[in-house]
Amino acid sequence: MPGRQEDINEASETVSADGSEQYDVIVVGAGAAGIGVGIAIAHVGIENFLIVDRETVGSSFSSWPDETRFITPSFPSNSIGMLDLNSIAIGISPAFSMKVEHPTGKEYAEHLQDISDFFELPIREKTDVRNIEKNDGLFHLETQEGTLLAKNVIWAAGEYQYPLLDGFVGSELCRHTSTVPSYGGLDGEDFLIVGGYESGIDAAVHLSNRDKKVRLFDLNAPWLEETSDPSVALSTFSFERMNNPKFEEHTKLFANTPVESVSVEDGVYVLKTQDGQTFSSTNQPLLAGGFSGSHKFVSHLFDERDDGFPELNESDESTIVPGMFLCGPSVRHDGHIFCFIFKYRQRFAIVAQAIASSLDIPTDEFVEAYRSWGMYLDDLSCCGQECLTC
Ligand SMILES: Cc1cc2nc3c(=O)[nH]c(=O)nc-3n(C[C@H](O)[C@H](O)[C@H](O)COP(=O)(O)OP(=O)(O)OC[C@H]3O[C@@H](n4cnc5c(N)ncnc54)[C@H](O)[C@@H]3O)c2cc1C
Repeated sequence: MPGRQEDINEASETVSADGSEQYDVIVVGAGAAGIGVGIAIAHVGIENFLIVDRETVGSSFSSWPDETRFITPSFPSNSIGMLDLNSIAIGISPAFSMKVEHPTGKEYAEHLQDISDFFELPIREKTDVRNIEKNDGLFHLETQEGTLLAKNVIWAAGEYQYPLLDGFVGSELCRHTSTVPSYGGLDGEDFLIVGGYESGIDAAVHLSNRDKKVRLFDLNAPWLEETSDPSVALSTFSFERMNNPKFEEHTKLFANTPVESVSVEDGVYVLKTQDGQTFSSTNQPLLAGGFSGSHKFVSHLFDERDDGFPELNESDESTIVPGMFLCGPSVRHDGHIFCFIFKYRQRFAIVAQAIASSLDIPTDEFVEAYRSWGMYLDDLSCCGQECLTC
C-alpha cells in the first residue's frame, strides 16, 4: 500500500548544510510525462528524487473541457506484449483499469493519480517552480516556499498551461480553447473558431452537437491531409465524429484561409481573413491555435533549435547545461516530433538510464525490460514522419 506523501518525501530527501532539501533528481510537472518518467526513475533504482507540480497530479488533463476525450484509443493489449497506447508505464493499461476507450481529461487525471499512488511516487503538489539556475554543480529551483536543490532536473511541465495566444491582429480578443471548462456551458448560437487541428475540430463537434452554428478557419486543411500518419492527419476518432449529420449541418470548414484580424465593436466580433472575407458573431471567437509550450520558461538552460525547440543530446539532455533534461511533447530530434503519449513515453527510459549511469547505478536489466515493451526508443531511423502539435 502507498505510504503517506510526507513519509515518502522525508524518506528520500537529503538536507544540505544551509537547510535546503537536496535531491539526485527533481522532475518538474506531474502530468503524463512527469509521472511516466518518475516511474522510470524509480524502476532504474534512483531513490532520492522528487516530483513537483504547481497544481495537482494531472492538472492539465483535469482542466480539459468536460466533453473532450482522448483521440488515441485505449485497449487492454498488454497481455500480448503491446502496451496500451495511452499507458505511460510498463504493465499499466488505462483501458483495463478505467474500462473506457477514449477517456476524458478528468478520467485520465484520476488514472495518473491512481498509478502515482500505486508506485508510491514522491510528489509534492502546489509547488510552483519560478526559476531554475545551476550554480556550483547543483540546480537551484526557486519555489514559493523556498529553494530546492538537485543534481539533475527533468523539465516535464508540458504545453497545455502555456497556450499560444498571438498569431494575428486581435488574437487576444479570442478565447483559447484550453480555458473553456465545458462547451455545453458556452452561451450563444454561433461561433467562429480559428484553428482546425484536433482542438478546433473537437470544439466544432461539441458545439454542432448542441445545434450551434460553427465557422472554422485553418491556415491549411488538416481534414484533407492524405497521409496515413495520425499525427499529421486528423485522428480516426475525429473523422468519425465529423461524419455526423449535426456536424455536416452546422459546421462550415474554411480550408487554406488564414485569419488576418479580429476586432470587436459594440459587442460584435468581426473576423477578417487574408483573402478579404469578413465574418461576424456576438460570441467571443475561439482560438485553437496550439501551445507555445513551457520550454520557453527554461530557454536559458538549453540551446535553441532553428524551430525554437530545445536542442537535446541523444539522452534528451541540454547540450549546454549538463544534468538538465526534457521530457514530453516538446522533445524534438531532427525532424522527429514526440507529441503524443505513445511517442514521448519511449524516451522516459533513455533519460532515466542517463541519470542512473551518472550516479553509477547499473542499467542493463532496466533497459532490456523497457526495450522489450517498446518503451526504449534509441534508434530514430524507424520514425520517418513528422507530426503537428495537438
Ligand atoms: C485537447 C487535447 C487532446 C489531446 N489528446 C491526446 C490524445 O488523445 N493522446 C495523446 O497521446 N495526447 C493527447 N494530447 C496531448 C497530451 O495531452 C499531452 O501530450 C500531454 O498533456 C503532455 O503531458 P505533459 O506531462 O508533458 O504535460 P501536462 O499534462 O501539461 O503536465 C505538466 C504539468 O506541469 C505542471 N507545471 C507547469 N509549469 C510548472 C511550473 N513552473 N512549476 C511546477 N509545475 C508546473 C502543470 O501543473 C502540469 O500538471 C491532447 C492534448 C490536447 C490539448
